[in-house]
Amino acid sequence: MKHVRKSPEPPELAQYRERFKTQFKRWSDLKSNRKTYNAIRTTLAADQKGICAYCEMSLHSQDRAVEHFIPCNQSTREQNLDLDWHNMLATCQGGLQNVKVPGEDDSIRNSRPPNNFPCCGAKKSQEYDKASCGNLLNPLELPSISIFSFSSLDGSIKPNAVACEQANITVQQAQFTIDTLNLNVQRLKRQRLAVIVAARSMRDQLDDGVADFKGIEAKLAAKYFVDGSGNWQPFFSALRFALGEGAELYLSQFS
Ligand SMILES: [Zn+2]
Repeated sequence: MKHVRKSPEPPELAQYRERFKTQFKRWSDLKSNRKTYNAIRTTLAADQKGICAYCEMSLHSQDRAVEHFIPCNQSTREQNLDLDWHNMLATCQGGLQNVKVPGEDDSIRNSRPPNNFPCCGAKKSQEYDKASCGNLLNPLELPSISIFSFSSLDGSIKPNAVACEQANITVQQAQFTIDTLNLNVQRLKRQRLAVIVAARSMRDQLDDGVADFKGIEAKLAAKYFVDGSGNWQPFFSALRFALGEGAELYLSQFS
């Protein structure tokens, strides 16, 4: 999970709210207006450069959803969170969607047994509790530094205590977020581990004992952070972790 920088809301959404300002329109109503719905989906995916706001898996046309950070059932006439642009994120469907993506192992993306454990919005919606979910970290409010760290042994995600302190976020909040979104489900760990192992192996291959490590990592970051279509590589934060200081050097040009 990384910081998401949102662009202004699509004009279609503002127009929709204006047109129905005397009515209490719900998300299900808006979805039937394809023009508005598509404008929202396209803008969210572009803002997030093609990766899920929670697990960072690639957003696929058959495996993506508009997630409301605060669930729609918390909306009131006075505060309609259903139509609030800043309450919307693009996410995967939490491993519940059977979809074959070229180049991806479908046993990884899919939820078939033994991997039928939902993550992301699908997991969060099962146990949303108004009181405790105040602790859930919102990708829109994360700092640009990564407050998470990863295991090079099994690809699991954990809070980075030093970075959390720097960002004024408690380790408990970071851990609560990992648990609530089920970010350590086996299929996600396996995919992150693959990213870490591949990045480290490329770095070692380029290490000629002369060039400095940081320079090699920065070069790899420039090559692999963004894919051919301008999207972030899936599991961006795990790649960032694997490429260490070189990744930070590369990313500093964007902040
Ligand atoms: Zn996800």
